[in-house]
Order: sequence, then C-alpha cells, then structure tokens
Amino acid sequence: MKNVAVIGAGTMGNGIAHTFAQFGYNVTLVDLDQNALDRGLSTIEKNLGRMVQKEKISEEEKQATLGRIALVTSLKEGVAHADLVVEAATENMAVKLKIFKELDAFTGPDCILASNTSSISITKIGAATRRPDKVIGMHFMNPVPVMKLVEIIRGYATSDEVTRAIMETSVSLRKVPVEVNDYPGFVANKILMPMINEAIITLWEGTAGVEEIDTVMKLGMAHPMGPLQLADFIGLDVCLAILEVLQDGFGNAKYAPCPLLVNMVTAGKLGIKSGEGFYDWSKGTKELVVASKFARKEMLPV
Ligand code: NAD
Repeated sequence: MKNVAVIGAGTMGNGIAHTFAQFGYNVTLVDLDQNALDRGLSTIEKNLGRMVQKEKISEEEKQATLGRIALVTSLKEGVAHADLVVEAATENMAVKLKIFKELDAFTGPDCILASNTSSISITKIGAATRRPDKVIGMHFMNPVPVMKLVEIIRGYATSDEVTRAIMETSVSLRKVPVEVNDYPGFVANKILMPMINEAIITLWEGTAGVEEIDTVMKLGMAHPMGPLQLADFIGLDVCLAILEVLQDGFGNAKYAPCPLLVNMVTAGKLGIKSGEGFYDWSKGTKELVVASKFARKEMLPV
C-alpha cells in the first residue's frame, strides 16, 4: 500500500494524515470544507514543528512529510488512486453510510475501506458497500501521532486477508494494533464510557466533587487524568452519543447516560471544545466550576 486517502480533516483526520505521511505514504486529505483542510494542514505543520523541537524528527523529515500530503475537497478526485481509504468524518451514521457508498463507487475494486468510527457498527458500514470483506475499523486514539494503540475492528464479513493487511499497515506506522470484533463500543469505549458515566453519576449523587473524583482515579488507580477531565477532552456530546450506542446495541439499562450528562450536552456544555464542561477551560486554564451546578439538589447534604 502506497496511496492513502483520509476523509475528514478534523481532530482525528489531520492526525491520521500526519502519521501516514510521516511513515512514507502518499496522503490525500479530503474534506468538504476548504477551511477545515487549511486548519488541518496548519495543525500538522505545528505538530511536526514540535517534533523537530523535541529532536524526534529532523527539519528535512518535516518538509518531506508535508510534501507527501495533498489537500482536496472532491471525494471522487481524492480517492481515485487510493490503495487504502481511512474515513474520519463526523460521527453520524447517515454521513458515514453516504460516504462509504460513494467510496465504493469511486475507488478501485481492491481498495480497502477503513473507518475511524468510535462506535458505529463496521458491519453496518460494510453492508452499505459491495465489498464488505474489504471494510474494517481502524480506530486511532487522540492525539494520533502520539498514541500507540490502534483498535482494529473486524466487521462480520471482514476477510482475514484484509485484517492482516491492516494490522501490518498499523505496525508500519509504529503503532500497536489490537484486533477486536464488531460489537457496540468495540473494546475501548465499551469499558471507558461506563467508567466515565459512573464518575458523572457519582458527582450527580453528591458523593464527591469534580476534583475529588478525578484525584481518586488519578492517584488511586494511576490514570494519567481523571475521568471527568477526560470526558471534557473527548467532548461530552461524543460521550453521550457513544453511551446511546451502547444502550441501544445491548438493550441494557446499565449503559443509560446519567441525566446530568444529558443536561450538560443540552445546555451546550461540551467540555474543552465549548469552553466549559466539568471544568472551565475558557481562560486557557483548568478552573473549577461552581459545585452546585452538578449535584442533584435533593442529594446535597443539608
Ligand atoms: P471533527 O468534527 O473534528 O472532524 C470531522 C471532519 O469531517 C470535519 O472537518 C468535517 O468538515 C468533515 N466532514 C464531514 N462530512 C464529510 C464528508 N462527507 N466528506 C468529507 N469530510 C467530511 O471530528 P473528529 O473528532 O476528528 O472525529 C472524526 C471521527 O473519528 C469520528 O468518527 C469519531 O468518532 C472518531 N474518533 C474521534 C476521536 C476523538 O477523540 N475526537 C477519537 C477516536 C475516534
């Protein structure tokens, strides 16, 4: 595999494009929005610059990496010569099904179609194409150039050959691929999201405050950051959407999103991206939010 098209130039797409280009692949980054492409490329430039400063790569490697990235707004044009497409567009079922139908029509018959989805069924995405054996999940972690794991999700129809090729491709990016089956939340989010939800329930019930909950998990369980801060990083809307996929997919009330999470998303408090979630990020620092905003009133001590 030599030519890779990455669909979506947002948080994940630019990191995926950066990583493939760094390890010698020709990358075409595709987004509907020219501004998103420009922002994506400037993020890649900034992140490569940081790697040069830390002496992880040379200035020549930075320039060569940038030279391997092309930007286009036309999906048809962007994927025409691709051996592999990695889709990292908005997490929305209708958007993804439409993109995969188009990818099926616009790419050569041997091209592998991968999705970076956090929670949408790979089997369902594969069923939107005439090549479900060549559709697979390639779930990178944020920030992509730094995080080692790639969760490789086999849809019901994904072939052994395609799985092997994508495992090998991940290794060529100096990542550690882990193969999992296609069930709601895969492995990463099936375990992570109930933990984040439980942390929110603990806050809502008034058992402890934001800082206390995060400190217990950080210092007690050696997590690099607490679950509430992590939720702010991921985006509370994303956490809610994944919990809904788990609840629908398993039909089990244990995945029901905490009403506090639902309220916060409805109120537009989405975490870092909106400036406030469990912490206030609006001044570029991490500040505590008034505690009474979170706990259920009847749960608070009198
Ligand atoms: P984002 O909103 O930052 O970026 C999505 C980009 O896709 C936008 O630039 C948008 O213009 C573009 N887009 C939308 N429809 C398109 C189309 N039809 N064709 C081309 N481009 C299109 O989203 P993100 O956080 O980068 O997430 C992308 C995917 O990665 C999602 O499936 C998400 O679940 C998954 N993911 C996200 C994270 C994370 O931490 N953010 C982690 C792992 C996986």
